[in-house]
Amino acid sequence: MKVVAYSIKSFEKEFLAKANQKKHDITLISNPLGLETTRYAEGKDAVVVFTNDDVSRPVIEQLAALGIKFIATRSTGTDHIDKQAAAQYGIKLANVPHYSPQAIAEHTVALALSLNRRLAKAQEHAQHFDFRQEGLMGFNFYGKTVGVIGLGHIGQAVANIFTGLGCLVIGYDIAPQPELKNITTVTLEELYAQSDIISLHTPLTPGTRHFINAAILKQMKDGVMLLNTSRGCLINTADVLKALNSGKVGYLGMDVYEHEKGLFFEDHEHDAIKDSLLQDLISHPDVLVTPHQAYLTREAVQQIADQTIKNLDMWQQSKCVGKACICAKNCRA
Ligand code: NAD
Repeated sequence: MKVVAYSIKSFEKEFLAKANQKKHDITLISNPLGLETTRYAEGKDAVVVFTNDDVSRPVIEQLAALGIKFIATRSTGTDHIDKQAAAQYGIKLANVPHYSPQAIAEHTVALALSLNRRLAKAQEHAQHFDFRQEGLMGFNFYGKTVGVIGLGHIGQAVANIFTGLGCLVIGYDIAPQPELKNITTVTLEELYAQSDIISLHTPLTPGTRHFINAAILKQMKDGVMLLNTSRGCLINTADVLKALNSGKVGYLGMDVYEHEKGLFFEDHEHDAIKDSLLQDLISHPDVLVTPHQAYLTREAVQQIADQTIKNLDMWQQSKCVGKACICAKNCRA
């Protein structure tokens, strides 16, 4: 099958090659998918994308006109894809339903520990042979309450690690949950009121966009630590910045950013970045920003590559990708 894969980073190539074993003829492109780059899909059967690719209606219309029948995203999150438009143009969709939740969970906890123990600042000082301890005071995680919102694969993996640190983990999920080891399920109001640390693990949907906002922040403990390794738009970032400046939020660990599209995954050191919100966050002493790298372990990247190739195989063989299908309802082949 002829495939074009967008937003390919150099480190991904060996993992994709190992998974593909030359079965599919895949053109690897470092550019993101967008209106200007759909031309690379000419003559292909399928397109492979990543989280910050533009898979909106106008792009889908162009891909459909080029004869594309299948789009596979190398991610769990699917909020970047207009599923209704794809269904309308008869394009089938697949994702990587679950890969190594531990990768994202470990990064989430790494953000929490680094923020608390000021590791970035300590390293920066050490590079100048400044070994003073002023400004490096942290707190024990042991005995603290962690609130996990979204108790799916990643949320549960996060809960397990925090439990290992001696935290009490409480959690909330919109779907009824079976009894979960290590997690006491509570209402959202209870979670906000009781948590010292709050970690977000829901997908981005119309219902979760900006669900952390000024009104919700008021319900949280003073000095709460917020962790977001899920999707930037879950948080109203401007509201959280205000809360950081007032001390309501004590720490923010963010692997994802509301306006990351076109910024993250690329080097902008020599560009004039006009995003003052991001500038303020990056320079804030209580904020740690990482570039959507929570998934970035060897194990996870191999699993993503393996599932993506499996999706191409399955679609080629039977036009059905089983559990990886993210098509809008009733459109399975
Ligand atoms: P999952 O489907 O296993 O779990 C998501 C959970 O969120 C489900 O239990 C669902 O019921 C719950 N949920 C949905 N809406 C909710 C709401 N309004 N309130 C409370 N709970 C709600 O998914 P997962 O594998 O745990 O992944 C979660 C998210 O993590 C993905 O959607 C993706 O956006 C993000 N992610 C980020 C990275 C990264 O590198 N930063 C990597 C993978 C996934």
